[in-house]
Amino acid sequence: MEKKFTSAKTKSLPSRVPRYTSYPPANHFKGSITNCQTQFWLQTVPKKSEISLYIHIPFCRSLCWFCACRTQGLAKRSNALGEYLKILKQEIDMIRKTLPMDVTVNSLHLGGGTPTILSEDQITDLLSHIKNRFQFTKKFQFSVEIDPTEIDQPRMNALKKFKINRASVGVQDFNPTVQQSIGRTQTFEQTKHCFDMLRKAKVASINVDFLYGLPTQKKDGFVKTIRSILDLNPDRIAMYGYAHVPWIARRQIMINHQDLPKENDRKALMEAGRDIIMTHGYLPIGIDHFATPKDPLALAENAKLVCRNFQGYNDHHSDNIIGVGASAISHFTHGYAQNAVSTREYMERISKNEFATTRGHAFTLDDKICGHVVEQLMCYFEVSLQDLERRFGKAAADTCQKISADPNLQLVGDSTYRIAAEPHLNARRVASCFDEYKTNFKAHSMAI
Ligand code: SF4
Repeated sequence: MEKKFTSAKTKSLPSRVPRYTSYPPANHFKGSITNCQTQFWLQTVPKKSEISLYIHIPFCRSLCWFCACRTQGLAKRSNALGEYLKILKQEIDMIRKTLPMDVTVNSLHLGGGTPTILSEDQITDLLSHIKNRFQFTKKFQFSVEIDPTEIDQPRMNALKKFKINRASVGVQDFNPTVQQSIGRTQTFEQTKHCFDMLRKAKVASINVDFLYGLPTQKKDGFVKTIRSILDLNPDRIAMYGYAHVPWIARRQIMINHQDLPKENDRKALMEAGRDIIMTHGYLPIGIDHFATPKDPLALAENAKLVCRNFQGYNDHHSDNIIGVGASAISHFTHGYAQNAVSTREYMERISKNEFATTRGHAFTLDDKICGHVVEQLMCYFEVSLQDLERRFGKAAADTCQKISADPNLQLVGDSTYRIAAEPHLNARRVASCFDEYKTNFKAHSMAI
């Protein structure tokens, strides 16, 4: 019987679901994954393969109320950054010694927190340390998350020396009332100055992150923020829904719950944002990213090569992404391993010369099948049964049956099923139907 599709069908789907930057979501990681497992996974990375490195700098000058990232303040007159850097370098040495000698690095990402809180000398010290220990591939990508209130020309010069070619700039919203309600001040002028420095440094791809659904946010002000962002001509835009999860991010209790837009208003903000961005010629990527047609992310989209990981949507896949630093998560071919979330515990473990893994997840074959379905739905809103059978053989039979019976998916090709109603709004919710770990969804953020 032919399936009938209405948006009413999606009403039965949960409204709070994971963001699916990993599968299973990180709240299902278990303490059974230890430093021994990390050591083994590092040792068994295939010889001559390419890896990606993610370095986490958890410190920020001040902590913004809305932010759910794993960050911490910096005590005045302390040498916390210097001590942390020393331990980071020690962990990098441990990783280098454990990996096969001939692996190469295809990308390096500095994330946080605020990576540019490091001084010019500290940036140079860290990057030289990595460069002296790893061989970079010809197409090596070096990306950095940049806080426009925490960057100056000397630090930019240090990044340029190591050929930064991608940057992600956080904006949130330029409206002063919204900024006041989220505990973060950042002017358009600061952001523009940051963009000017990045362009002068010949950074090829600049991304801007901003949020809809923030407290006191109204459509007019939001549209004004987007127009200001578009004036800067970013190569990529990520428009995330603000996730109000004070039970996870304690500092969000500073935000007045009454000021948050209701679900319909969130949706209206998001749709208004999409319309303006796409009218300016950006191509939509997945649920919340946009790119200019010439940007590598848009080219990857056209070639069906976009993948999803902890940094969101990405234009290149790496079988092994190795996380360095407190709370950093490594994504190996066979599973995830997360370092101690507490910076103190992380530093103590590394200083004893042992990996700081405290939890993670080893993939089963079912995880790989479901993870692939979830990733395809999140990236392309569709999944091909033929592709699943080619990758996983008979083991994918049950999942294929589940896909063909799912009321939210519609057959659009020989064996391709696509999310039938408003895919960019429903991808997380439909993906959750293939999540075998779906317990306690209420702990997650709103899907829209
Ligand atoms: S928004 Fe940026 S500066 Fe503010 S707490 Fe989060 S990571 Fe730190």
